Amino acid sequence: MEEVNITIIGAGVIGLACAYLLSEEFTDIAVIEKNSSFGQETSSRNSEVIHAGIYYSVGSLKAVTSKRGSELLYEMCSKNNIPHRKTGKLITALNEEDFKQIEKIYVNARQCGIERVHIISRQEIKVMEPLIEAEKALFVEDTGIVDTHRLMDFLYHKSKSAGVICSFSTEVTDIKKISSGYEVSLCEPSGDSSGDRFSFHSRVVINAAGLFSDKIAEKAGIDIDENGYKLYYCKGQYFRIRNPEKFSIKHLVYPPPTEVSLGIHITPDMGGGLRLGPDASYISEIDYTVDEGAKKYFWESVSKFLPSLKEEDLILDTAGVRSKLQPEHGPFRDFIIKDEEEKGLPGFINLIGIESPGLTSCLAIAEMVRDFVRRRL
Ligand SMILES: Cc1cc2nc3c(=O)[nH]c(=O)nc-3n(C[C@H](O)[C@H](O)[C@H](O)COP(=O)(O)OP(=O)(O)OC[C@H]3O[C@@H](n4cnc5c(N)ncnc54)[C@H](O)[C@@H]3O)c2cc1C
Repeated sequence: MEEVNITIIGAGVIGLACAYLLSEEFTDIAVIEKNSSFGQETSSRNSEVIHAGIYYSVGSLKAVTSKRGSELLYEMCSKNNIPHRKTGKLITALNEEDFKQIEKIYVNARQCGIERVHIISRQEIKVMEPLIEAEKALFVEDTGIVDTHRLMDFLYHKSKSAGVICSFSTEVTDIKKISSGYEVSLCEPSGDSSGDRFSFHSRVVINAAGLFSDKIAEKAGIDIDENGYKLYYCKGQYFRIRNPEKFSIKHLVYPPPTEVSLGIHITPDMGGGLRLGPDASYISEIDYTVDEGAKKYFWESVSKFLPSLKEEDLILDTAGVRSKLQPEHGPFRDFIIKDEEEKGLPGFINLIGIESPGLTSCLAIAEMVRDFVRRRL
């Protein structure tokens, strides 16, 4: 039976970032992806924002990895001509209650070591964004945008040229602990319902399966209910502004965040477009349709701080699904980034609940994974 050193399950931005970093130091790495190409799920259905890491409590993995990850990502994008732009971001406050919220975010950001954040006045907002109406705003200088497809393309090709084997249209169906590591079983679609099945051995397994990472953990024998690893799906829809040149918004513009999301924001993209979203609703099955009926709600939300926006300026865009460890109305949950040695699974590395700011954090998460792998190989 074939044996590799490292198997990475999933070729989204997290799996690819791990492959990229690990291939600098280790050999015999396989990436297994059930779709026919990389980045076809959450990593290509998001806001493409490089977050500064202002929202998360000090010391949490979300705070630490987004701060470190954004630094690494900007550096990598600059060095390798991956399209990106440090746009800066405004979180608008329309009233006293909003203001209290942005003040809290400001204090948290400073505690997390993020220095380039400022509370700015109505006049300063007008200079930066003449069409935005707000009494005050939190200005975050280091937030930006990135072309996620170009980012993943870079990570994929670099990994491949360093010798990583990527197997597409191949699904991991089972994982068994064996003395030398893990036996990983795969299924390749063959046209009929059974598919071709085979297996191989891997000394280390990295679970970067996104929306299915809880199922992969379960296949390795982990009780996901008992361990709090069960994922809940939370859909986020987007609309697009039909005529972006009419508004020429240069910054990311947000309302204060809600319990489950950052609120419906305006996001410029690298192609000169303006997207609005995402909203947030818990769903039981993965579903990427966008409901035309949500248009009014999007318009009402954004026109509070962009009053010249008309409902007819909005057209349907895409949707993504967040992989949340936090059930609806549940408390904050951090990323799970863990070598499962204490569960009797040394070298089985779980990356579960990698919702936002996962794109921002991808290289920092990959660094943590590399530290785990160094202890095993
Ligand atoms: C609406 C929305 C907006 C967001 N906005 C931002 C943002 O602006 N900034 C930010 O930093 N983050 C953002 N995020 C979060 C970010 O998109 C994710 O953290 C990131 O894309 C997760 O990447 P991933 O590789 O873990 O998952 P994915 O991209 O989903 O990749 C997982 C891969 O695993 C594969 N897979 C699953 N099961 C198997 C199996 N059994 N066998 C083989 N392959 C398998 C899947 O096919 C998939 O390709 C957003 C997320 C959403 C939903």
